[in-house]
Amino acid sequence: MELETVLRAMTPGAGWLDFAVLLAVVIAAIVAILLGTGLFFEVMNARHPERKVQKNRVNRRKWRELAYAPGSIFTLSLCFAAGLFAQWQGWALTPLPLSWWSGPLMLLISVLLYDTWFYWVHRLLHLRPMMRFHALHHTSVSPTCWTNHHETIVEALLNQLFYFVIVFVLPIPWPMLVAQKIYDQISGMLGHAGYEHFASPLARAPWPLASTVFHDQHHGHFRYNFAHTFSVWDRMMGTLYPGYDATVEAFERGAPPAEAPAVRSGRDTSPRRAADSVPK
Ligand SMILES: [Zn+2]
Ligand SMILES: [Zn+2]
Repeated sequence: MELETVLRAMTPGAGWLDFAVLLAVVIAAIVAILLGTGLFFEVMNARHPERKVQKNRVNRRKWRELAYAPGSIFTLSLCFAAGLFAQWQGWALTPLPLSWWSGPLMLLISVLLYDTWFYWVHRLLHLRPMMRFHALHHTSVSPTCWTNHHETIVEALLNQLFYFVIVFVLPIPWPMLVAQKIYDQISGMLGHAGYEHFASPLARAPWPLASTVFHDQHHGHFRYNFAHTFSVWDRMMGTLYPGYDATVEAFERGAPPAEAPAVRSGRDTSPRRAADSVPK
């Protein structure tokens, strides 16, 4: 029944009821990804306590952070469903036919565009007039995978509007947009996992990928590492945390440092105002 209604949403001339059902299906899928990915990290973290990034801090309010998940998930699902619906209804660019080259190419371009969008929206959110919308997310100095949805509606909207706007600027086939959203949800939780399970040379210079350490250091040190999937924008703009590459390399060797070099040299600029992340 629901599948039939989603198929109706894909047909030009669909009504708002069809959109509402599509939205419900998207929300259900996002919740399923949240629970599956969260369970994975809870098990992995329990098995490998030595991989904790901020060894001297523990987030005692991690379950309470989920109180903000419904608003965050509804907002991001609304943006995503609106993007799909706009393309299906012919209101946006006509997507390229899905092929062996158009799919990966459009997906790569879209991921690069989202990283650019995320970096600059994030820099904007750190400006004083906008910080009121982002401060909630930073009350988690030591994040957990559940911190991914610990955000205000405004912050969720600013980040996730990308998925509505993109169909008007890039002829991306919708299955690639679905693939990107699934990746985005999982990688968002990976970035907040608090434990570095996938340290790799691909996540440090000269390679462009970002690891869990990358966003963990954003929460721990506040003024660094603003991007999402790649470290390129931070390297270009001088906002990469000075100890990032060295910390990833240390995790590869299985000997992560208790603190990275920039902290020891007194350049730590974390606001240190969160009540939920306290020293062990
Ligand atoms: Zn931030
Ligand atoms: Zn975060």
